[in-house]
Amino acid sequence: MNVKAYNDLIERYADIVRLGQIGSMLMWDLNTYMPPEAVDMRGDQQSLVSGIAHERLTSREMGKLLETLSKIELPLKKAAVVREIKRNHDRAASIPRHLIRELSRMEPVATGRWVKAKEKSDFSIFRDVLERFLELKKQVAEYVGYDDSPYDALIDEYEPYMKSEKLARTFGDLGGKLKPIVAKLTEVCSEYDEDKLIRKYPIEIQKVLFQSILLKMGYDMGRGRVDISAHPFTSGSLDDVRITLRYDESDLRPGLFSSIHEGGHALYEQGFLKENYMTPLAESVSLGIHESQSRLWENIVGRSRPFWEAFYPELQNAFPSMKNVSLDEFHRAINHISNTPVRVDADEVTYSMHILVRFEIEKDLVENKMEVTDIPQVWNELYRRYLGIEPKNDSLGCLQDIHWAMGAVGYFPTYTLGNLYSAQFFDAASKEIGDLEGSIGNGNLKPLLSWLRSNIHSYGKLYTADDLVKKVTGESLSEDHFINYLKKKYSNIYDIDL
Ligand code: MG
Repeated sequence: MNVKAYNDLIERYADIVRLGQIGSMLMWDLNTYMPPEAVDMRGDQQSLVSGIAHERLTSREMGKLLETLSKIELPLKKAAVVREIKRNHDRAASIPRHLIRELSRMEPVATGRWVKAKEKSDFSIFRDVLERFLELKKQVAEYVGYDDSPYDALIDEYEPYMKSEKLARTFGDLGGKLKPIVAKLTEVCSEYDEDKLIRKYPIEIQKVLFQSILLKMGYDMGRGRVDISAHPFTSGSLDDVRITLRYDESDLRPGLFSSIHEGGHALYEQGFLKENYMTPLAESVSLGIHESQSRLWENIVGRSRPFWEAFYPELQNAFPSMKNVSLDEFHRAINHISNTPVRVDADEVTYSMHILVRFEIEKDLVENKMEVTDIPQVWNELYRRYLGIEPKNDSLGCLQDIHWAMGAVGYFPTYTLGNLYSAQFFDAASKEIGDLEGSIGNGNLKPLLSWLRSNIHSYGKLYTADDLVKKVTGESLSEDHFINYLKKKYSNIYDIDL
């Protein structure tokens, strides 16, 4: 093999990774500590850094190295490194500069309009910029190229190698199987008081409790930190993986579950092998796989009975007013199912229905089967069909999410993929780890983390999502694991037949 060319490639790529790390640090600061007036300055800094990274990635030298190396037969890991860098390079190089500039000019304009439209709950204020933005995204799809649907080329940015046809099949089956479960659970749960947990939770005490849970999960504070932001997120990678949380003084749940969720993302980013740092083998496979890690911890572990058998006494000690709430009552209250019109308020059962609505609309828009102007009407129809409700207005309906205003088309499916992958992974972990539930019930989360480390985290991008799922679980992605997980769990909690 051509050792010199490979080493040259690795060195060049490492700088591109570093530029990405700088960009994510700027983004973290923007959302946590930056003075508000610095927003324009920060925008210039971010576009400079991403511009340099783009130039380096698409440079002629990089192209030549990749061409040389992709013709040579390489051992597994090196071949994966070359395959993934080439994927990034090809995608970035295929989109002309004027289009990239236009897309980045469009983003603040579209976001601004979206904010106004949402405030006034009037989709028509957002319509023309969204039309323009979608036109640009369709151009991106044409430049990037695709076999069957232009939507494939857009999904590919977030969930590499995934095809819309496969998504449509899996999501279609999922929707059909979820529908009766959602109907039954929303009916049963309406009899329970979901405000049972509303009381005063001093924020300083929440912080201590959440940190203690993060440490038990295995989050390494020597390579991380926790701050506050309007919307929780995880940023950075390798030896600097930061979490942000938000706290609600009258409800413990938002902070508690966002900390476990972001903790799951952070464990993935901290779980790559040092020897692979600054290469694609120390990067996440896809957003769907990333989300599988957060949702596995948040829902399958963090909302499970065994987890709270172990941790509820600690929570009750932190908040003595919880001593009159039994473990059963608490467990039901953190697993309360309702058909809210708002995605970010949704529980693990109804969540995917929100995504199916967005998926169908996005796909039809990009495939020219639907007009932007019809979004509000179609949105409401689909909410009726999937969740049996109709949003009161556009603000609680088709204007609720920022994604399309940021040009993130093809992103939504990764949330539901996260749910499906997480259940499938957890089933495999349960089979391989003797008495996984027992160890979680004893507050010992180490066996699960080390399974995730050796079966998922440590590989980085060595395998594609589909190959990884097959390798780890013995089969391709299927909605059945998730459906069975829901049936078993909620039949137990509410003593019903699902
Ligand atoms: Mg997430």
